[in-house]
Amino acid sequence: MDIRAADLVDKLAGEHALALDDYEYLVEHLDEEVRDLLAEHARAAREPIYGHDVFVRGLIEFSSFCKNDCYYCGLRASNASCERYRLTAGQILACADRGYELGFRTFVLQSGEDPRFTDERLCAIVRALKEAHPDCAVTLSVGERTRESYARLREAGADRYLLRHETATPEHYARLHPAGMSWEHRMQCLRDLRELGYAVGAGFMVGSPFQTSADLACDLLFIQEFQPEMCGIGPFVPHHATPFANEPAGTLEQTLGLLSIIRLIKPNILLPATTALGTIADNGRELGMEAGANVVMPNLSPGDVRAKYLLYDNKICTGDEAAESLLSLKERLARAGYAVVTSRGDPRIA
Ligand code: SAM
Ligand code: SF4
Repeated sequence: MDIRAADLVDKLAGEHALALDDYEYLVEHLDEEVRDLLAEHARAAREPIYGHDVFVRGLIEFSSFCKNDCYYCGLRASNASCERYRLTAGQILACADRGYELGFRTFVLQSGEDPRFTDERLCAIVRALKEAHPDCAVTLSVGERTRESYARLREAGADRYLLRHETATPEHYARLHPAGMSWEHRMQCLRDLRELGYAVGAGFMVGSPFQTSADLACDLLFIQEFQPEMCGIGPFVPHHATPFANEPAGTLEQTLGLLSIIRLIKPNILLPATTALGTIADNGRELGMEAGANVVMPNLSPGDVRAKYLLYDNKICTGDEAAESLLSLKERLARAGYAVVTSRGDPRIA
C-alpha cells in the first residue's frame, strides 16, 4: 500500500482534518487498499455515534420546472424535451400523508428553481405539513433564494436545507454553470442558511466534467471548514439532452472513497447513499453504507411524475428506490447488517 496515503488515512481518522495538499494526495491514491482502509476507519468512526442505524427521508420532487441552466442537469431550462410538472399543495401534502403512514418522519421537498413557488406559497405548504405532522422534520432543497426568503421559510417551520455547493472552486463552478450563475452567491446562501438556524446540507458531484483532484481536495477542505450537518455526494451521471451528454459518469470507486473521507472529517455527519450511487451500481446503497454513509432517501413523489424528474439518464425511481418499498429496503439493508430508523426522536438528527 502507498505509505504516505496510509499515513494520511491514519492522521485523518485521528485528527479529522488534513491540509489541502494532503487531501489532493489522498484523492489521487484511492486504490482498493486505501479505500478499504478508509472504509474500515469510517465504519469505526460512525459506530459509537450511530451504531448500525440508517435514517430514511421521504423525498418529494414537487416541480420539474427550473429557471436555471446548469450544464449537467436534465431539468435545465434549455432542455425542451424535459417533461415539466408541478404538484399542487394538496398533492404535496398527500405525498407526506402517505409517507407518514409508511413510517417516514422526515420529508425532503425538492424541486428545480421554480418561480411559481413564491415564498407565500412555499411557506403555506411547509406550515400545513408541520401542522399535519408536528412530529416530523421538513427539509427543503429548492435552490438559491434570498436570505429573507430563507428566513420566512424557516419561520414557517422548515428545519433543514440541502444546497449542494457543487464545487468549492470558482473556476470549476464557472465551467459547470452559465455566466449568470455565481459561485459566490451559492456560498453566501449556505452561510445565510447556517446563520438562520437551519441544519445545512452541502455536497458535490463526483467526476463532474473538468473536475480535478485539486478541485476535490478543495471540496474536502470546504467540508472540513464549513462542517455541514449533512453532505450529499453522488457520481455525476450524464443526461442525453445537456451539453455534457457525452461526458463520462463519475465512478463508484471514487464516490465510495470520498464518502469514507467525509465520514472521517465529521464522524457525526448525515451522509446519504444517493440515488445517483444506486443508479450506477445495483448494490450502490449497501456499498455506500459500508463506506460510511447512514442515510437513504426513497422517492415519495406520485408514481406518474417520477420518471419526469430526470436529472440524468436511467435515474432509478422504482424498486427499493420507491418509498412504497420501505419494507423491502429495510430487509435489504438488514441483510447488510443495518437497521432502518424512521422516527425522528434523536436530537442529533433533529
Ligand atoms: N434545484 C435545486 C438545486 O440545484 O440545488 C435542487 C434540485 S437539484 C436537481 C439537486 C442536485 O442534483 C444538484 O445539487 C446536483 O448536484 C444534482 N444533479 C443534477 N444533475 C446531475 C447529474 N447529471 N448527475 C448527478 N447529479 C446531478
Ligand atoms: Fe435547476 Fe437544480 Fe438542475 Fe441546476 S441542478 S438546473 S438549479 S434543478
